[in-house]
Amino acid sequence: MATKITVIPGDGIGPSLTEATIKVLNKLGCDFEYEYAEAGITSLDKGNDLLPQETLDLISKNKIALKGPLTTPSGGGFTSINVTLRRMFDLYANVRPVVTYEGTKARYENIDIITIRENTEGLYCGAGQQVSEDEEVAESKSIVTKKGSDRVLKFAYDLARKKGRKQIHAFHKANILKSTSGLFLNRARLAAEENKDIESKEMIVDNACMQLVMNPNQFDMIVTTNLFGDIISDLCAGLVGGLGMAPGANIGDDVAIFEAVHGSAPDIAGKNIANPSSLMLAAALMLDHLDMTDKADKLRNAIADVIKTKDRCTADLGGTSGTTDFTEAVLQRL
Ligand code: ATP
Repeated sequence: MATKITVIPGDGIGPSLTEATIKVLNKLGCDFEYEYAEAGITSLDKGNDLLPQETLDLISKNKIALKGPLTTPSGGGFTSINVTLRRMFDLYANVRPVVTYEGTKARYENIDIITIRENTEGLYCGAGQQVSEDEEVAESKSIVTKKGSDRVLKFAYDLARKKGRKQIHAFHKANILKSTSGLFLNRARLAAEENKDIESKEMIVDNACMQLVMNPNQFDMIVTTNLFGDIISDLCAGLVGGLGMAPGANIGDDVAIFEAVHGSAPDIAGKNIANPSSLMLAAALMLDHLDMTDKADKLRNAIADVIKTKDRCTADLGGTSGTTDFTEAVLQRL
């Protein structure tokens, strides 16, 4: 029986990236049945909810979703759709790998770092958000729990073992954020004790940013809390040539949603110039998740070869071709 995948094309460059990605999945001969769903501005513009119930039902039913970037309108009291999805389906581990592809406009060679971002807690929990009436004071609450920290740490060590990784850095700011980051660090130290087969290190997040820029090859895997993970993973994307090369996976115990790290990129939407690798690489993570690693590797190798041979590359990769020509070049190699 074909595996059913919920596909949310999303906003901005999302639909063109999704179209390109479905083409390569079909060419790979994946036995998938795609069920399309709407969300974001695209849905709102059609008079529907920002995150319609039918979309949530489809994600619950199929358990696996491939999602283009979604824009949450600023103002109007809308809660971020991405944050809502992560919390609603308890997608507690956000996996964001970055790998150097030969031929990209990157500053470094041989980068291969997986960031695991805690995805449901910290400053993203949305608790205690308020602005005083005179707008002089704003506050919001950060919540970090033992359960939330332990499960993302366990996820990181399990993934390290599965991928043959040797080392995990826990990034924190426990010297200042003594309660929240302090709790996370304590749990990370305990996890380090319980996982002696993997080398465990810890680093204060500001130093970590400098170290990532100065000497990124010292890092293998990173695990950290929500906001730090958000920032660090964009920094890591910059190490390998930008957001066009950065995929992400949101994993829970029941549901998994695969997406590009970047947003809807309104500045380049509708111009056929976006690099579809981000979503294609997210689809490769989805294939890994479904134990279809051979097909995932085939896709990664095809993308790598297009970039290495500079065959029809998009502008962010130093080329002059469009999204559709890049996609054709990948398809030709499959
Ligand atoms: P959001 O608020 O949704 O994150 P944003 O515009 O702030 O949106 P992104 O959409 O992530 O941020 O885009 C950041 C920059 O990276 C933009 O200049 C965008 O054009 C570029 N960019 C993002 N994705 C791609 C891509 N797939 N290919 C090429 N450039 C991209």
